[in-house]
Amino acid sequence: MRKKETVRDVRIADSYDIVIVGASSSGAYFARKMAEQGYSVLAIEKSSTEDLSTGYDIFHIAEADMQAHGLPMPQKGDGIWSFEFADMAHFSPYNHYKKPYQVKTIGLHKHPYMLMLCDWAKEAGATILFEAPFESAIVKGKAVKGVTFRYGGKQYSVNAKLVVDASGQPAVVRTSLPKKVGMETFKLSNKDVFFVRLRYIQFEERKRWMQNWVWIAYKMWLAPSNSEYDAILGIGSCLSFDQGESFYEGFCKNVAPELPPYKVAKVEDMPTPYKRSLYSYVADGFVAVGGAGLVNRADNGEGVTEAMNHIDIVVEHVSKLLKKGKPLTRKNLWKINKKYNNGQGRDYAMLYAVMQKALMLSPDTMEYMFEKDCILSQSILAELGETLTPLDLARQLIELVKGLRSGAIPKAEFGPVGAGVLKAGAAIVLYTLYPRTPRGYKLWCCCAQKLWDSVGQMADLYE
Ligand SMILES: Cc1cc2nc3c(=O)[nH]c(=O)nc-3n(C[C@H](O)[C@H](O)[C@H](O)COP(=O)(O)OP(=O)(O)OC[C@H]3O[C@@H](n4cnc5c(N)ncnc54)[C@H](O)[C@@H]3O)c2cc1C
Repeated sequence: MRKKETVRDVRIADSYDIVIVGASSSGAYFARKMAEQGYSVLAIEKSSTEDLSTGYDIFHIAEADMQAHGLPMPQKGDGIWSFEFADMAHFSPYNHYKKPYQVKTIGLHKHPYMLMLCDWAKEAGATILFEAPFESAIVKGKAVKGVTFRYGGKQYSVNAKLVVDASGQPAVVRTSLPKKVGMETFKLSNKDVFFVRLRYIQFEERKRWMQNWVWIAYKMWLAPSNSEYDAILGIGSCLSFDQGESFYEGFCKNVAPELPPYKVAKVEDMPTPYKRSLYSYVADGFVAVGGAGLVNRADNGEGVTEAMNHIDIVVEHVSKLLKKGKPLTRKNLWKINKKYNNGQGRDYAMLYAVMQKALMLSPDTMEYMFEKDCILSQSILAELGETLTPLDLARQLIELVKGLRSGAIPKAEFGPVGAGVLKAGAAIVLYTLYPRTPRGYKLWCCCAQKLWDSVGQMADLYE
């Protein structure tokens, strides 16, 4: 049982180097990485320690990512570690084609692991306040100067050199900022969200499932679970949780009969963002990270270490500026945008552009594309899907044209998916040309907006 912190246990200063809103994976990681360098860090979290990250139980994280980010490693039997596995595979809609690959992955109970990350940040000197909801940003001119929040029945105002929005999907700070700060302040609509339904299943002949199998035609995956259940059947859908049920029907008809018989023992529903990432993550005295910056993968919605990759860039750059005594202005922070958008940001934009249409292909067309290895090709899977190169895109396009010519791909499907591949190519060019300074930003945004308007959204295809 954790000792409950009271208002008397903590001293809240008037100002900090860094104030973070949200202390789940992104917030706690950011707090640790800045505090271990000696900066003063305050993180405010609206949940209690009992409620932190309780939306879903198990999350997966590649062992190599844990090591790369220096994350604390839970141990077998500590109530956090749940299982490990390495076998992954993508399957065609009728299960005729399997594309296997290996990634050593660990399944962790999310709630206790998030508490572990918060303790890890505190050990380095960060202050983390639970049950401390953000109220408003303190803005002077165009700059974010701090935040106000509630804690122990009182309102507090603290100043910061940098305010970090790590509040996940609601992006409470970013969406509250006045226009003059220059951030995108949109809130997510149902079209911008992937509604994930997790079915915790038990096989009739009880045996734990130790693979991660994906059927993108149904936006479904079958992954290991904790020991109480044998596996998790996840399904994602735009617009609502119930929209995904039609995909589940297709899965039950075409795939489930080939699995051992199972019963559904528990269901969890959780949304995750599904929209192109922010055009800029920074403003004067402000940065948006993790779910608040829409930093997650377009092919599977995962975002914990994806956010950490972005945060590493932010931390490196912010600490350089602080060491030199330079102010954390939008202009000085701009390199974060450039570096991120020339790397992971570009890869995810490209993946997002092609996925919008590819995920909605008919089962017959997708089966053909699996056969020809022009979707989720082995070479891409070997790189964990992070590097879809222009050559890969060209190869996909050639196979699509061959499919059209032979009649295997109907014209109505060739058009959108062929255009999706070309737009993925355009995304690579656009994100490579991300401006070095804020001067070219307006023009870049116009081009980006045109691209994303033409790509459209997967949700449009549901209607
Ligand atoms: C069902 C499901 C399964 C997933 N599985 C995986 C997986 O296996 N691996 C993976 O990498 N990703 C997975 N993801 C994605 C992953 O959960 C997110 O990418 C990740 O949680 C984003 O972390 P975050 O810290 O940015 O935001 P969040 O986890 O959303 O945390 C935001 C924090 O901010 C706090 N907050 C919100 N509002 C306020 C406020 N007003 N004041 C103060 N604090 C506030 C919240 O309480 C919360 O603690 C999954 C998502 C879903 C929906």
